[in-house]
Amino acid sequence: MSGKIRLLILSLTSCLFIGCAINPITGEEELMLLSESQDIEIGRKYAPEVEKELGGKIDNPALQNYIDSVGQRIARISHRSDWEYHFVALKDDSLNAFALPGGYIFITKGMLEKLQTEAQLAAILAHETVHVVARDTANAMSSQIGLSLLLSAVTSGETSRGVLTAAQLTQQIISLRYSRKDEREADLGGLDYMVAAGYNPYGMVETMQMLENEQKVRTVEFLSSHPPPENRTAYLTQRIQTGNYNLTELRIGKGDYRRTVLDRLTN
Ligand SMILES: [Zn+2]
Repeated sequence: MSGKIRLLILSLTSCLFIGCAINPITGEEELMLLSESQDIEIGRKYAPEVEKELGGKIDNPALQNYIDSVGQRIARISHRSDWEYHFVALKDDSLNAFALPGGYIFITKGMLEKLQTEAQLAAILAHETVHVVARDTANAMSSQIGLSLLLSAVTSGETSRGVLTAAQLTQQIISLRYSRKDEREADLGGLDYMVAAGYNPYGMVETMQMLENEQKVRTVEFLSSHPPPENRTAYLTQRIQTGNYNLTELRIGKGDYRRTVLDRLTN
């Protein structure tokens, strides 16, 4: 039996056993090959590997607390506010942010250096929080890495019979690719989360424009794993304009971001 057919049969039968979960972002029923506890197990196992692979955590407790506090503000108003979330800044120079299943969200030094406000940071963290809440990460991992390899790696404490080393598997996790549909949902869902958490939603438009501009001169790892949908800036701006938000009450946080992040990265 070919691997694909086996996966299909596994998918169909597991819908009966694991169940088709409702994606709270879209309200649609989706097949979930991993259980929520497996999401958390995978995140917990691979978070330290991913940190190691990307240069380790930035060694500045005040900066880490700030990133985490912005992330927790968003997590608390998300559809899965009862989950435990971890927002961590890594030393890597790439322009990237990504999530592991189970609430582990990372942002790189390269990305932090290009952002200018707390609202822009909130935009990236909100986008990633939607991927976690919608369980896009868990789905991408099961389809792009393979469910059996993932589960055996988690349960045995090793990668499957030496097929992949932990470093290779980590590399695959870092380079997971989402669909454009997932991206659009993460953008719009993230925009809603930003506003609900009290952030000015233009922070997301600015961030996406910055990434698109950067891509003209360098590799933007974030855009390789999160392929930009068509008209991204247009649909984000339209959503803000029709959203009737009281923008004057929503936080931008330029001074705090500079003092807590940018000044500390250069020192
Ligand atoms: Zn994304």
